[in-house]
Amino acid sequence: MNSFQEANLKAEILTALEDMNFQKPTPIQSEVLALFREDIRDCIALAQTGTGKTAAFSLPILNSINPGDQSVKAIVLSPTRELALQIGNDVFDMSKHLSGVNNLVVYGGSSISQQIKDLRKGPQIVVGTPGRTKDLINRGKLKLEEVEWVVLDEADEMLSMGFKEDLEYILSQTPQDRTVLLFSATLPKEIRKIANKYLKSPLEITVGNRNEGAKNVTHKYFSVRRKDKYPALKRLLDMHPDIYSIVFCRTKRETNDIAARLSTDGYNSDTLNGDLTQSQRDLVMQKFRDKQVQILVATDVAARGLDVNDLTHVINYKLPDENEAYVHRSGRTGRAGKSGLSYIIIEPGEIGKVKQIEKSLGKTIEAATIPSGMDICKVQLRDFINKVKDTEDSTQELENLLPEINESLKDVSKDELIKKLVAHEINTLLDYYKDDIDINVEPGKARSSKEGRSRNRKSGVEYTRFFLNVGRRDKYQKKNLLELINKVLTVKGIDIGDIEILKSYSFIELEKGHEKMAISAFKNTRLKGRALSLEVANKRTDKPSRNRKFRKNSKRRR
Ligand code: ADP
Ligand code: MG
Repeated sequence: MNSFQEANLKAEILTALEDMNFQKPTPIQSEVLALFREDIRDCIALAQTGTGKTAAFSLPILNSINPGDQSVKAIVLSPTRELALQIGNDVFDMSKHLSGVNNLVVYGGSSISQQIKDLRKGPQIVVGTPGRTKDLINRGKLKLEEVEWVVLDEADEMLSMGFKEDLEYILSQTPQDRTVLLFSATLPKEIRKIANKYLKSPLEITVGNRNEGAKNVTHKYFSVRRKDKYPALKRLLDMHPDIYSIVFCRTKRETNDIAARLSTDGYNSDTLNGDLTQSQRDLVMQKFRDKQVQILVATDVAARGLDVNDLTHVINYKLPDENEAYVHRSGRTGRAGKSGLSYIIIEPGEIGKVKQIEKSLGKTIEAATIPSGMDICKVQLRDFINKVKDTEDSTQELENLLPEINESLKDVSKDELIKKLVAHEINTLLDYYKDDIDINVEPGKARSSKEGRSRNRKSGVEYTRFFLNVGRRDKYQKKNLLELINKVLTVKGIDIGDIEILKSYSFIELEKGHEKMAISAFKNTRLKGRALSLEVANKRTDKPSRNRKFRKNSKRRR
């Protein structure tokens, strides 16, 4: 079906659709409208978020309502208050010209007595969260005798939020001959079970491949040690100065932790989780929609209520338990023809999980490396220069100040000024990243450095930690490095402790007391023509300070 006109919709509805600038049905709307033009029957519709499901179920319902009849004809169940309100608004817009047709949104955390009063006004469509809807039914305030339609919107999400019993209760209380429309992005077994029990030979409609994340999304994973996950996140954020992203965590506690660290480090970030009060949630969501907040740290459930799909990146700080949830997460980027990126930060041992997700996604998740400090500085510098170039500089206020500014800068040359300006902007970042180490580790292989150290160390032996300019880039693994050390050292039988191989260099531990010999032995050795350099590692080269607050002082942040 290519137009709304073909769907035999009432003139008032067509006018409303014009007002809303809905020119033609989306694929899911087209399928559902075609079905209901022929026949009224139960259906299961699988479609990702953003495909226009609200109008798909609302239009046939609105079309069937007789305005004179003021009893509840349709119950629409939705997982969160935000989604319910959104549906209520959309239904309001679509029914604007249908006088006498009204909807009511009911949800927990808000006065039930007001909702009971509003029910007496005779809305034909009640949109609600499952808990509150059930409550109103139990109290005998929400009457179901006349119900012709039950819509389960985001059914998979309602189940994963623990609404299974409420849903079953509501379905079992509605009249036998009602039509059930089940909308879901995914089709887990539990949904199947509910469908088998409460739907009558439903028609299945699938829009797009339900297992495929949005086509325009590129998936990448980064493997780092657990202790490096947060620094890895920071680097990814630093690499994309204009990022607009949700960082997904698994638990409320984790979102609080990451959000607190990001804001201490000066990022433009906030958190969305179940700990917030309703008004706090509303505020955070509004800020994020308005792009006043660039980075939102959220749990899957909390992010559900958020109708933001045009993210530049989805960052999986922790993978979800269910592969399907990953599909949901990554579907929030790569919309409207734009390309999107879904990043996964894993610990080496989680590679198996990535492979599983790859399977259920039907798409490759590319291995990628966390950028180096220098790469990040270059990107930030370029971004700064572009922003300087684009800065509005023709205001009268500025003109008025110019004489004074010129006077105070008269002894500084243009070249000098540029240098100083750039230094002012980037020095803190350069400083932060100057000692950076490569935090990428091969998936499936690494142990934490602590375990590694204790494994090779002998008790009772004291070690000195050295830095050696040979790393993975030189195709060196632990075995080859051990051989090299044994070959080079002029004094034999020295105990070798832990070896940690990084991209372009390594840390090795040698029995204490042989520093001079070891350093000069390496100095006299060449590897493929290159001079080797062994130095005693100090804390600075080992670990760059992570606590400098680059962004706090940065004026660049909005
Ligand atoms: P879903 O429930 O599948 O996530 P929505 O029903 O919320 O999707 O619709 C997503 C967005 O697309 C909304 O902003 C909605 O107004 C818009 N939309 C829906 N149908 C159409 C249409 N036929 N033409 C233009 N925009 C539409
Ligand atoms: Mg929806």
